[in-house]
Amino acid sequence: MLNSRGTLCTHNAAVETFEFADDLSDEQLKQNYIVRNSACYGCPVACGKVVKSPDGEYAGKKLKMPEYETIYALGSMLDNRDIVSVIDGNGVCDLYGMDTISMGVTLSFVAECLERGIVSQSDLGGRVDFADGRGMVELVKLTAKKQGIGKLLALGSLRLSQKFGADSHRLLYCVKGLEIAGHSARGIRPMALGYATSTRGGSHHDTRPKYLFPDDDPGFEGQVEYNITSQNYTALGDSLIMCRFVQEKGFGPVIDKMTASVVNYVTGWDGDQRELDIIGERIYNLERLINVRRGLGRRDDTPPWRTMNEPIPNGPAQGRYCSSENFHRMLDEYYRLRGWSQDGVPGQAKLSELGLR
Ligand code: SF4
Repeated sequence: MLNSRGTLCTHNAAVETFEFADDLSDEQLKQNYIVRNSACYGCPVACGKVVKSPDGEYAGKKLKMPEYETIYALGSMLDNRDIVSVIDGNGVCDLYGMDTISMGVTLSFVAECLERGIVSQSDLGGRVDFADGRGMVELVKLTAKKQGIGKLLALGSLRLSQKFGADSHRLLYCVKGLEIAGHSARGIRPMALGYATSTRGGSHHDTRPKYLFPDDDPGFEGQVEYNITSQNYTALGDSLIMCRFVQEKGFGPVIDKMTASVVNYVTGWDGDQRELDIIGERIYNLERLINVRRGLGRRDDTPPWRTMNEPIPNGPAQGRYCSSENFHRMLDEYYRLRGWSQDGVPGQAKLSELGLR
């Protein structure tokens, strides 16, 4: 779906359509690899799938199917159309407890740095290539064991960029050192500000992508308010220990009457949606205060360079990006609506209002 809308980040997010996206599609997985659904206890959504691969690292074995984010990070971001290698890379990451998004986006960053001559094979002690699925799986293993080039890759893309210098920061696809998920910061309008103001960095689990945005470019109108609403919603959902998919599929993408009635049923409270929104807001402010205490501020609330400086070059979302002017206008407004200073520090009045002082 995202590829058809021109928002499937490919080749380290230099472009946002992938010629071989069909090779990585759900239809491909369903027809050739999925053997059954799997679910957390009692969940009616059952988002999990078990796959069996005829060849590769786990030939003949059953294992968890890579989710969308993994297919993006180990697949399209690396120009990798080899779905078996994505299944394998996912399996190895799971085995070693590594995040597939950070792994894949770090690899695509290094591959582009090599391609542009910012670093050389001899600098790295090895290669990271686009369109090399089997090579990717081996690099995941080396990273997990911190062997050879894996010792460098284990640093993640931000610290590697600090080592590489030159213009490598322009090729980073991360916020606050966390590699960004597969919901385009350029193509899906709320995500540039959403990732930038995410308390944990480039996470798609603070601001949620608007899946059903119209095909016509919605522009930036209303995105600041949406970001705040969405962040309060995810903070509340996490605090309720509610799976995001259940929360969204069952009760919608915002805190509403349905959310309030579910919480009231389970807890015996008698709250309404406004009270729940304030709980989410309080949590988000508390997270922000922790970041402020750690020295983070406005300069860290910044989307990747490419998001603000390079429009999507082709495809259905061609021309979309978030210019620095647009971004800072939204950030100013975001801080104002949040009740934070223009440096991104929660104000005393807001903290009093939320009972945090
Ligand atoms: S939707 Fe959430 S709770 Fe349900 S199976 Fe998937 S991860 Fe588990």
